[in-house]
Amino acid sequence: IAVTYTIYELSSRLRPSDQQQSHEPLAARPQYKLGIESTIGNTPLIVIKSLSEATGCTILAKCEFLNGAGNSPKDRVALSIINRAEEEGLLTPYSGDTIYEGTVGSTGISLATLSRARGYSAHIIMPSDQAHEKSDLLRKLGARVDRVSPAPIVDQLHFVNRARNLAREHTADPNRAGRGLFADQFETDANWKAHFEGTGREIFEQASAEGGRIDAFVAGAGTGGTISGCAMYLRGKLPDIRIVLADPQGSGLYNKVMHGVMFHGLEREGTRRRAQVDTVVEGIGLTRSTKNFEVGSELVDDAVKVTDDQARRMARWLCEKDGIFVGSSSSVNCYAAVKTALQLGPGHKVVTILCDSGMRHLSKFWKQVNEIGGEDDMTFEELMKA
Ligand code: PMP
Repeated sequence: IAVTYTIYELSSRLRPSDQQQSHEPLAARPQYKLGIESTIGNTPLIVIKSLSEATGCTILAKCEFLNGAGNSPKDRVALSIINRAEEEGLLTPYSGDTIYEGTVGSTGISLATLSRARGYSAHIIMPSDQAHEKSDLLRKLGARVDRVSPAPIVDQLHFVNRARNLAREHTADPNRAGRGLFADQFETDANWKAHFEGTGREIFEQASAEGGRIDAFVAGAGTGGTISGCAMYLRGKLPDIRIVLADPQGSGLYNKVMHGVMFHGLEREGTRRRAQVDTVVEGIGLTRSTKNFEVGSELVDDAVKVTDDQARRMARWLCEKDGIFVGSSSSVNCYAAVKTALQLGPGHKVVTILCDSGMRHLSKFWKQVNEIGGEDDMTFEELMKA
């Protein structure tokens, strides 16, 4: 089948040294890079072999968990928010300035890491229902962390509003050193632009080097920065590319894409009142729209809803068959990528994102994955059942 050929063709063109750790003499490779920031971006685009073989398509994944600061796509966003604030004179290193952010974790971890590297403090507000691995890591990174009860976005107690208010109070307080900067990942255009100039451009260039065409790009939305930034870049280069939202259960974005309204029918009341998306998946899914989702939403052609069960099965599949150990949003992305591939039919090329490592989800998502019964050798039919 097509994909077996693609993988075979790919591996025959790679030199053996490209497929393993480089044994070239050090002097032949570029040497020093400055700081942890230099490990952000230029992540690998890999063929997920098991899913490609099973679908007859080439399923490609951008390994965003390999960004080297906070180990997620949010490194790109945090770096671009901090760089811009420094350029605009809103942040000055080692002056007591504090970065405030409301986050389910990944953006906080990237901001806290870069705050250490650049001479800032970080104060992170996150919902209390997120896996503790992320708040533990934030504290190790020296960030102040407040875990707060989930609240609706219209409530000043919502984690994003709290972060905005704290930044304002800091700046207004004459007794405090430095200023407060609200990073504002949900609304700032530094977010989608980081993915437009980084993630999206890299995917296009990596795919071009391998012969061009990408038929579909599939991603979930937490702020919407990834899907919007990548969609805008890729559609500009590949007018026929299909952009697909991967949406976890309980999120309102599926309806927005498919029916043009955030909430409709029976979901309307429940979803509007619900503070959080009702899913074990962390990092993607929204009960409101954001500027970062809106800016690219016209380009989204389709949405795939993924249940928690399906996400858990995909996490286990990827680990078992490919040795890819990832978190819940990556699993949702891969499930939706497979569904998209099956719709398109054999021979197509589908790109998605691996966002973060399973290590960040051991106590919650992966605990549930481990509880799935059955044999080790899951069949593709078992993986894809409703
Ligand atoms: N995966 C994880 C683990 C995340 O934390 C996030 C962001 N909250 C996303 C995916 C989604 O990225 P974006 O905010 O760009 O939509």
